[in-house]
This record gives sequence, structure tokens and C-alpha cells, in this order.
Amino acid sequence: MVRNRETKGIREVAASGSHYQVGVSLGKQCRDQAMRIHKRFKADVGRRPGMTMAKAVSAAKKTLPLSREFFPEYVEELEGYADGAGLSFDEFYADVCDLTGIGKGCTDIAVNAQWTKNDLVFAAHNEDVEPYNFEDLAIVRVKPSGEPGFIGVSYGGILLTIGLNAAGISLTGNALVQNDSRSGIPKMFAVRKVLSARGLYDALRFAVPVGRSSSFNNIVCDHNGEIYSMEGSATTFDAIYAEDGYLVHANHYLSPRMWKYESDMHTRISSIIRYNRAKKLFKKHLGQVEVSTFKEIFSDHVGYPESICRHADPSLCEAEQTSTVFSTVLDLTHNVAWICSGNPCTGEYRRYEL
Ligand SMILES: [Zn+2]
Repeated sequence: MVRNRETKGIREVAASGSHYQVGVSLGKQCRDQAMRIHKRFKADVGRRPGMTMAKAVSAAKKTLPLSREFFPEYVEELEGYADGAGLSFDEFYADVCDLTGIGKGCTDIAVNAQWTKNDLVFAAHNEDVEPYNFEDLAIVRVKPSGEPGFIGVSYGGILLTIGLNAAGISLTGNALVQNDSRSGIPKMFAVRKVLSARGLYDALRFAVPVGRSSSFNNIVCDHNGEIYSMEGSATTFDAIYAEDGYLVHANHYLSPRMWKYESDMHTRISSIIRYNRAKKLFKKHLGQVEVSTFKEIFSDHVGYPESICRHADPSLCEAEQTSTVFSTVLDLTHNVAWICSGNPCTGEYRRYEL
């Protein structure tokens, strides 16, 4: 069991230089996390009937040319990371390809200056995963050569889940379960590449690479208050624009165009509750939104334990439990990330500058 998340906080790491050097540095600083993540992957592969590490590696290798074509710099970072952490790159890449489960939940809200107290733009997110993932979280500040620097929250320092870059682009979002998943570019690649974007056009393109294996709902915002929910599946997407100046999302497709890609709506009940509840609570604050608004909404317990602030259901086994492991409010106007370690109902949001 993970205890005292709120007081313990999340590890902070930083790296700069070439993409390979960034990877090596993060791999060294997060070696223990890399080992745990990899150990879990190997155990998971071992539990699947007929599956072996050799088969997983061989299947992943087939996607590497596509991944290299889309974002060779991130392949270099992963190579450096494997070297820095002392892992086999082939096995680690197979793990990255396999991360279909990351983000079992998550509730997001983005809003622009139209509705905020001091004309700020915010992208906010609750990260809901298996509770044991908390140990592997790292806040990263990365400045790769030739790219805008960024701050983000990652697993093991290298697998980004949210972030904000120096060009005023943010990436947050939600897991979706789609029925057209296939072999292709791992969905983590899109997340990382959006954070390399210098503007909105590139950010939106990077969010939905052709040849992807599957997709998150990638929420892309810029400092001008442009807010898009790139609701992707493996083969297509819809770009939902925040026409009213704000947007709420959880873990089911909202666009009627995308409904047919929903894998099993029967498993989306928590998502439906969180989406409706967050929208209802948020509307009350329109015109007065500030950082504390998100703390209030993200701490909500209606539908407990599968509420916006999610808590592990003790009746489930560990692998099936979900809890909020961190929460964040990204201020795109000031390039500041407010990050809360653990559940927002008990934790506090701390200020991190880019
Ligand atoms: Zn709570």
C-alpha cells in the first residue's frame, strides 16, 4: 500500500542536451522506477497465455520503423533511457508499445480567459491509474537541444502523461478504449511530440500521427486560449473545439462521429458520472475560475469510490483498483504547473515554474 502520498510528494528530475543525452540522464535518475515498470511488464507478459518476452519484442520491433519516421528524436531518448537505466532497449520499447492500460481513468477540464478570474488559460487534469503507479511518478523538466523546454509529469521520467512547453502548448487528456487498436506507433509518442510543438498547428498534427496503434483523447491547448480535444482512435479522430470557451472530458467518446469506435460503453459508467458531474460543478464557477476552483471540483466524491477524486475500491484486487495519483492545473498564461501529489481531497497544489 502507498501511504502518505501527500507528504511524500513526487520525485523531481531534470535533463538537457541531445535527445540521447536527455534519455541517459533520465534513465540514471529514475533507474529504480524503470526497473519496477519493466518488472511489472515482464510479469504481465508471463501471465498471458501463449505470450513470451521474445514474442512481445518481435511484435514491437515491427512498429519501430513507423515510430522512427514519426518522431526519431523520441526513439533516441528511449535508447538513451534504456542505456541509462541498464535495460535492453528492445524490451523497453516492447513495454512502451504495450502501455495500452496507462490512464484507466482521468477527468479533464480546460478553460480560456473568457471564464477565468484573471483572464488566464488553464488545462487541468486528474490522473487515475492503479494505485501502485504512484511510486513511479516523476515531475520532469526537460530542455532538449533544438526544441522548446517543457515541464511534465511522467512515469519513470520518460513516459509523459501531461505537460506544458515554453512555446505555450499544453498536453493533457484521457484514456479511451477503442475497437480499432492495431500494431503501430505507440500512443505515448503523440503525447511526447505535442510537447515539442512550437505552435498550435504542429501540436494538433502531432496529436494524431498516421499509423498509430491507438490513441488517447489528447487535449491540446495554447496560450491564446485555443482548446481542442483530439478524440482519436487508431484509424481516425474528431477535433472537438471548445466553442464556449471551456471543455470537459473523461473516458468515453463525446463526438457522435466517434461513438462507433467505443469498445464497450458498459464499462464507461464511472466516466459518465465524472464527466457530467465535473461539467455541472464547473459551470457554477464560470467567470470566476481560478486554481482553487479545480481543487474543489477534482476533490468531488459523488459516485465514490469511482468519483472524480477516485479512491481504490478495497473489494477489488490491486491490478483492478483505480485511484487519483496526482492532479494538475496548468496555467498557460504564466507557464506554471500546479501539481498535487495524491488525491486532491487531501493533498495541496504546489507551484512549479517551467
Ligand atoms: Zn478523495
